[in-house]
Amino acid sequence: MDTRVEELLKQLTLEEKIEFAACLEDRFANAKRVGLEGFYTCDNTNPYNSMYDMQAAPWEVRKQLKGFFGTCFPQMAALGNTWDEALTYEVADAQGQEAKYGNVGVLLRPGVNMKRSPLCGRNFEYFSEDPVLAGELAGSYIRGVQKNKVAACLKHYAVNSQEYERMSTDARVSERALHEIYLRPFQIAIEKGDPWTVMTSYNKVNGTYAHANRELLDVLRRDFRFDGVVMSDCMAVHYDKMQAHAAGLDVELDMSYIHRNQIRDALNDGSFLEKQLDDIVRRVLTLYFKINDQAQIPDEIDLQAHHALALRAAEAAAVLLKNNGILPLDPKTAGTVAVIGAYAKQPQYMGGGSGHMTGRQIDCAYDALEALVGKDRLLYAPAYHISGRDGEPGELPSEDQLLEEAAAAARRADVTLVFTGYDFPHESEGYDRPDYLLPAAHRRVLEKVLQQSDRVILIVSTGAAVQLTEYAQRAAAILYTGLSGEAEGKAAVNVLFGLAEPGGRLSETFPRRIEDTPAYLNYPQFPDPAQQVVYGEDIFIGYRWYDARKIEPLYPFGYGLSYTSFRYDALRLDKTACLPDDTVTVRVDVTNTGERAGSDVVQLYLRNRDTKLCLPRKQLKAFAKVELQPGETKTVELQLSRRALEVYSANLHKWVVEQGCYEILIGRSSREILLQAELCVSSGEKPYGISAFGSGTWVVTDERFEEACRGILPEETQQYFKNSNLASMCMSLPWDRLAEVDLGQGKITREQLNAIVEKLAW
Ligand code: BGC
Repeated sequence: MDTRVEELLKQLTLEEKIEFAACLEDRFANAKRVGLEGFYTCDNTNPYNSMYDMQAAPWEVRKQLKGFFGTCFPQMAALGNTWDEALTYEVADAQGQEAKYGNVGVLLRPGVNMKRSPLCGRNFEYFSEDPVLAGELAGSYIRGVQKNKVAACLKHYAVNSQEYERMSTDARVSERALHEIYLRPFQIAIEKGDPWTVMTSYNKVNGTYAHANRELLDVLRRDFRFDGVVMSDCMAVHYDKMQAHAAGLDVELDMSYIHRNQIRDALNDGSFLEKQLDDIVRRVLTLYFKINDQAQIPDEIDLQAHHALALRAAEAAAVLLKNNGILPLDPKTAGTVAVIGAYAKQPQYMGGGSGHMTGRQIDCAYDALEALVGKDRLLYAPAYHISGRDGEPGELPSEDQLLEEAAAAARRADVTLVFTGYDFPHESEGYDRPDYLLPAAHRRVLEKVLQQSDRVILIVSTGAAVQLTEYAQRAAAILYTGLSGEAEGKAAVNVLFGLAEPGGRLSETFPRRIEDTPAYLNYPQFPDPAQQVVYGEDIFIGYRWYDARKIEPLYPFGYGLSYTSFRYDALRLDKTACLPDDTVTVRVDVTNTGERAGSDVVQLYLRNRDTKLCLPRKQLKAFAKVELQPGETKTVELQLSRRALEVYSANLHKWVVEQGCYEILIGRSSREILLQAELCVSSGEKPYGISAFGSGTWVVTDERFEEACRGILPEETQQYFKNSNLASMCMSLPWDRLAEVDLGQGKITREQLNAIVEKLAW
């Protein structure tokens, strides 16, 4: 218990307490009276730089921020592609410093919602389609931010994997998928990062708005042991504010005047107690004390160092999807380079919405190319218009003209670089992408340019997978940058010319076509009048789906090429048999067998060979990024704990470990498994309950049944069920029905049945 908090609580009037509980943004005056400094709650490292241009911010704000303009680092999706916890921490630390400097007390990041469909407009703010990768990286991110006495905000809790009608849709998800896929990243991030705030999502989850969803908030507090402030999303709380408080919400993230009135009324009529109000205020005051460490405010920010970090992170996020040997280019021998696409000069490094941020020092690819190969050897053709950013349509060349210019440049050049992607109004919070395709104008350019040359390299910048199927064969190389921040352009050039290695691996699958995706039939392209979004693919999201359906993706989860080569060997486990609560250490040697330094991501997937459940073919459980000089070998160590073995039992409403022989699969992607070992897990825990109405299969296959029957059923009856042909047929009957038929030797009486069920009660 913090005595400062208790002291303050005593000093506050009831009205002041109500202020603290009504909203997180609106209480600077209130806080000042009791000697607390106010702070901003913001999506970015400085207020007014998210949706608005900093230059347009009111003078008062600019003055207060000392003209400070923050660094735009790679977005979460791009950080996801780094698979690098240490680098994610470094980036977050730098963002935390900038936030502190800009008086941002709560940085409204990171998002760990699952990338369920490539169409979600906000995918660029989310790490991955995999809960472990997202949770681990988010944990590192949170620690980096909070090191600076700035609160991170883990969001959007939960099941907010689409933007379409996000404030009213009802995500219908099974209990198992909810826990294994959608809540798991929150749990991992909370355990690892201990965020000071969590934000609930706008949508309903199984019928109840997330901010008023008792079940979800109980999981957060009770199971995940989250003890910080739970805030709603902006203007998310519906008219009945007290319902949200009753469910466990602390504060609203906006300025609802109704809220204060409702708290007052509820206190008056006794439906809300001052004690409950005090608990909320306690949590908010604790947050203030955590943030209000003035000693931590840096005198100045080393913006050059931060920009260099943004560049390094963007290089580490760049995923090389295809290379027919053309890369890395050599500036001396590359010849004439056609630079096609306006994004080469006006890069796409960010998505739209509240997470949007204008970069401070934008490095465009064209400038980097000019510095490297010289202006004389560059042939620039803008090729397409950028929405609202390149002047009045009347003043611009027609699309046909742009297309011809691009084709002519590609014909003349020795190598052609095409910069493509979405511009930020097309990839944003608040709505989803209309389709899985690159913009029509870009597709026309690509078709035309690919007809002119077989030395065409694509540089793709989007916040999520996009259809590249048409180009995968014909392009000489494809580099996926993601939305990787203000240094994206230079990072791409550095990777293309081998000044940096392509360090990224895909944190999401790139399917061949949208029809292959897991959520295809349940996504807003087929809206439901009841506004229900059925998570019909259940736990089979991302690579889990493509594996189970045997669908060949264009580029699988975890994939990315390198400029060097690696050998994996000597996979060893410190034990080959374990109990659920043991920790197993897995080691593997990785050698750089090529001529260049490079990094690889060692990925550990697990498969339970003996499962009785419907399980994915493999699931990521651990990973590590390793950097190696040519010829160097390093031993990578990964740990598996109970968490890796667990499945969520919807029958028992808890996590359990299934007995069986597990395969430990070590790979370079979800589709490139190089080594494999076995781990035998002995466990008495069963992820399935036995019900009298369940299939008779249990009668012969489950040891618990055998155990329960002992002393109730004669041995010969049990044997009869095990061995007779008739029994095989009976196995499809719900076994309570067996008590109703006379099978002679195999008869079970109703009394015996009841006694067995009682013994098996869970
Ligand atoms: C977004 C949140 C964001 C908040 C404040 C909302 O529209 O969903 O992610 O943090 O606005 O800007």
